[in-house]
Amino acid sequence: MKTIGLLGGMSWESTLEYYKMINDGIKDRLGGLHSAKIAMVSVDFEPIEKLQHQGKWDEMAKMLSHDAKNIEKAGADFLLICTNTMHKIAGKIENSIQIPLLHIADATAEELIRDGIKKVGLIGTAFTMEEEFYKGRLEKKYGLQVITPNKKDREIIHKIIYNELCLGKIKDDSKKEYLRIINELTKNGVKGVILGCTEIGLLVKQSDTDIKLFDTTQIHAEKAVELALR
Ligand code: GLU
Repeated sequence: MKTIGLLGGMSWESTLEYYKMINDGIKDRLGGLHSAKIAMVSVDFEPIEKLQHQGKWDEMAKMLSHDAKNIEKAGADFLLICTNTMHKIAGKIENSIQIPLLHIADATAEELIRDGIKKVGLIGTAFTMEEEFYKGRLEKKYGLQVITPNKKDREIIHKIIYNELCLGKIKDDSKKEYLRIINELTKNGVKGVILGCTEIGLLVKQSDTDIKLFDTTQIHAEKAVELALR
């Protein structure tokens, strides 16, 4: 079994999910007392969140590349960055290490293609919904058509992520808002919706809606298990 590298803490509420999903995945496949081999660095998210909103991505790239190198030194065979948003600097982090990066958007795109989906909704932070590094990658590299909510709804999604989900606050009203926005997206003819933020699965589950959801945390964790055992 390979050792899975996790760059987590963004936020730790979702890294906890990764840790559990990956260990459950290994246990399901191998049985007995088997569990995942993991090398993890979990960051302090407060300064990261400040730098994100100040647009200081180069500074964050330096910090996270340093952390990624430590994960490599600790014996990881490949790396997961446990957040969609920080994939904005995935290229820089990837260049600082020798081990491969399992990109969250690539993992998700493979699932969409496997399910025959071409037009998909995307919710996540404003960075993820509005910038090229994520939406553009899905469109250009995989030929997907990606639909995001309107500006007002994007703001609602973004605020709930940082003010509630990253703090472990799960509120009924916010869930209703997310489900309303997901439903709105289907009016554009999307055949599924990407939960493109690793905390959204804490709030919205597949059992809440008939619309096919692509939970990036779950997809990313499952791909890591597959790769670890390959
Ligand atoms: N975990 C979130 C994501 O998947 C948001 C927190 C962050 O900005 O990293 O995008």
